[in-house]
Amino acid sequence: MSRGAQVIVAGAGALGLSCALALADAGCAVTVCDPGGFGRASSVAAGMLAPAFECALEPDMALHADLLFAARDQWAALEARIGLTLDRSGALALGGDVWLADIHAALVRLGVPMTEVGRGTIEALAPDVSPPDPYETAPPAISSALQRGLLVREDWRLESKPALTALRTACEASGVAFQTERVSERSAADALVLAVGYDRGLAELAPELDVLFPIKGQILRYGDVKGGGVCLRSPWGYAVPSSEGLIFGATMELGRSDLEFDAVAFADLIAGSGSLFAHQDSHAYKAERGIRAATPDGLPMVGPSRTPGVILATGARRNGWLLAPLVAQVVTAWVTGRDPGPYAARLDPARFGSGTSA
Ligand SMILES: Cc1cc2nc3c(=O)[nH]c(=O)nc-3n(C[C@H](O)[C@H](O)[C@H](O)COP(=O)(O)OP(=O)(O)OC[C@H]3O[C@@H](n4cnc5c(N)ncnc54)[C@H](O)[C@@H]3O)c2cc1C
Repeated sequence: MSRGAQVIVAGAGALGLSCALALADAGCAVTVCDPGGFGRASSVAAGMLAPAFECALEPDMALHADLLFAARDQWAALEARIGLTLDRSGALALGGDVWLADIHAALVRLGVPMTEVGRGTIEALAPDVSPPDPYETAPPAISSALQRGLLVREDWRLESKPALTALRTACEASGVAFQTERVSERSAADALVLAVGYDRGLAELAPELDVLFPIKGQILRYGDVKGGGVCLRSPWGYAVPSSEGLIFGATMELGRSDLEFDAVAFADLIAGSGSLFAHQDSHAYKAERGIRAATPDGLPMVGPSRTPGVILATGARRNGWLLAPLVAQVVTAWVTGRDPGPYAARLDPARFGSGTSA
């Protein structure tokens, strides 16, 4: 394939829109097809671009720290390209002594700079944090956990819905066409990019999709608390400020691809948010849910399917926003016949074999 290729992108989430824009910028004639019109997981996401804490919290991800940091660095160009402003105020870890010591050790191993902060700085950086009253409900371990923290400036964030709008606007301005259609087969276009999130219904078209599994994620959005400044990472969950209200998340429900309300998972989330925001009205939230597509090694499948002309861009698990510009660059290189770069081998869909259905 080459510059000027006709490309269909299936899926208008973070990955599909980022790919469509990069392909259009590379001179391709691009059509995005999505029956829903808007990324399902992408619009629910907290929007953290968080290589430092993702690697500190998930040992499997630490193996790919270079890739995650490279993806974050690519956001600077995409930010300018689509006229979005990322928040770079960072993330603050709050937790018990043992948990904080583990995070500290993991950040040291990663070579991530951090600052130890006390109660005064925590209040300035995260004014909504309110320790539970130790004489009422909270175990002392929780209230003492909010007296010190670790501040990391390496993690950034965006707001997912405005970011999707900005990507779509940039795509339209670059001549990308949009259709509200479900893609079910390879068309006459030169290339078909499958950025469909969790949709194993397409495994006949691309057998590699067989390895995908779903992880349902639920978040709370507290409309009356905007939150300020930094994201919070804690053993009870994360809290992310947004213009639509403070986001507290998220559940990781392995194997679940339904969007049903789940009372048990929700009770855990509410209890978790109460550990950080004791004075928060625990009923004043809106619930949102999304399905993450995941692969066995936690990295997405990005590159050619064994079906000729089909390129995969899916399986980004809990880092689809972080990885979006890197995924778009690799997909565009494959479509236009350029070098897909140093991370292509780790993202190659063939690394799991070819799936079971072909
Ligand atoms: C609760 C939660 C919190 C998260 N927080 C973060 C975070 O802070 N940072 C981060 O980086 N990531 C986060 N993620 C993960 C991130 O949301 C995903 O990795 C990312 O959105 C995946 O984007 P996508 O474009 O692959 O999928 P999606 O956003 O799901 O988009 C796929 C699109 O494909 C369309 N589609 C499906 N089948 C077809 C078809 N056959 N034809 C055409 N279109 C089709 C769908 O309608 C959908 O719009 C979070 C996820 C969840 C659920």
